[in-house]
Amino acid sequence: MTNDKTDGTLEACWGRVCDHLRKEIGEAAYQSWVKPMTVRSIDDGIARISVPTRFMRDWVAAHYVDRLGALWSKEDKFVNSVDVFVQSERALRSDGAAASPKEAVQAPGVVINESAERPGGDHAAISGPLDSRNVFDNFVVGKSNEFAYAAARRVAEAASVPFNPLFLYGGVGLGKTHLMHAIAWHISQQDPQRRVIYLSAEKFMYRFIRALKEQSTVDFKEMFRNVDVLMIDDVQFIGGKGATQEEFFHTFNALVDQGRQIVLSADKSPSDLEGMEERLQSRLNCGLVADIHATTFELRLGILQSKAEQLKVEIPPKMMEFLAHKITSNVRELEGALNRVVAHSQLVGRAITLETTQEVLHDLLRANDRRVTIEDIQKSVAAHFNIRISDMHSARRARSVARPRQVAMYLAKQLTSRSLPEIGRKFGGRDHTTVMHAVKKVDELRECDQSFAEDVELLRRMLEGQPAAGFRRT
Ligand code: ADP
Ligand code: MG
Repeated sequence: MTNDKTDGTLEACWGRVCDHLRKEIGEAAYQSWVKPMTVRSIDDGIARISVPTRFMRDWVAAHYVDRLGALWSKEDKFVNSVDVFVQSERALRSDGAAASPKEAVQAPGVVINESAERPGGDHAAISGPLDSRNVFDNFVVGKSNEFAYAAARRVAEAASVPFNPLFLYGGVGLGKTHLMHAIAWHISQQDPQRRVIYLSAEKFMYRFIRALKEQSTVDFKEMFRNVDVLMIDDVQFIGGKGATQEEFFHTFNALVDQGRQIVLSADKSPSDLEGMEERLQSRLNCGLVADIHATTFELRLGILQSKAEQLKVEIPPKMMEFLAHKITSNVRELEGALNRVVAHSQLVGRAITLETTQEVLHDLLRANDRRVTIEDIQKSVAAHFNIRISDMHSARRARSVARPRQVAMYLAKQLTSRSLPEIGRKFGGRDHTTVMHAVKKVDELRECDQSFAEDVELLRRMLEGQPAAGFRRT
């Protein structure tokens, strides 16, 4: 990296760029974000700027880098972009994470809150990447996630520890990681002195195992025990790993005892985590457990509107409703669907229509169609056998209703991912052994009764091929 301009020119130019930006963003933001930057060099039309921490780099990269580039190219037409990298001796030494400026900028959002002067371990080196889009402002709140959202905000905004740990749980793609990143961003922005570590449980285990091998477990422990906020994502992966779970438990206890905040996420509630030791489970249950439920139609619509705004594209309301009706699995898929539709329309240069959307998403739409609910099953089976839907829940044992009920339970087991207890609950609060018995019974009957087997098969095919109401591909 060489600099073929004199420092004077470079710095004078940078000074003018800064002045401009200062006017645009105001004094406070200028002092926090622009002032700590140092211009280092220009090569190949790229102005290279260093900042002292990774957190700053991520923030600047997300919020100011484009504007800086634009202002700079007005000052110097040979500059067409700006690169921000972390210049901290410690960061350069540790982990190779910021080995070269280029690398440092390309890996978006490696955390956070590192300051070269701070004693007690390099937190930034162990923290995982944070996506700069995952902030509270971009999180759409609805019935299914309002509690988790409020809890996350509370942790992010509180001066002391409001509850410990905060345990967020819910199915994939429903916003757990988004909320965790949002907490990290918020805290780091409010108080850059607070040391925040965010990492996946897998990374945590990997680090720990590496420390074991390198016999540096003492450092490892110190690192975690000196943080203000420790966030571990997807802790279901810690289950069943003896030594790591033990270490996790000790770290956890030490931090809680010192009044440090812990935030965890998982795909299940603490009590449902498999392979998790009981004492750990009960500690996890001690804080605040907040679950994120499956999305509602309104939330999906809200998310689509917000994403479309972010993408700065106009999407007909009818199209958004269509997508919100059809892509019900999770937010990640919903986002993916929207991105695909938008990318396609931009590529072919045509407006988004229902037809092209169905074309572009046909695989996704089919996969979402196939997800049958227990209610669908109960409805279809009741209709087929000519009984009332309420008989699916009733205690009546007459064979004329008991048999169809068993068929419905059987199909629920086959066609949904619900567990036996869950299915039992949906059938008037029956026990899981009743469901198990129904599945066995139906299997036996299918073996020996041809017409019964055909009935079940017919119902299964009907349910699987069942198009969701409203739109149908022809
Ligand atoms: P999880 O960690 O629960 O599997 P993520 O947090 O990774 O899910 O969310 C998947 C995607 O959906 C991310 O891009 C995230 O930003 C987005 N997302 C999830 N919930 C919301 C929401 N309520 N508002 C906006 N975006 C959301
Ligand atoms: Mg996640």
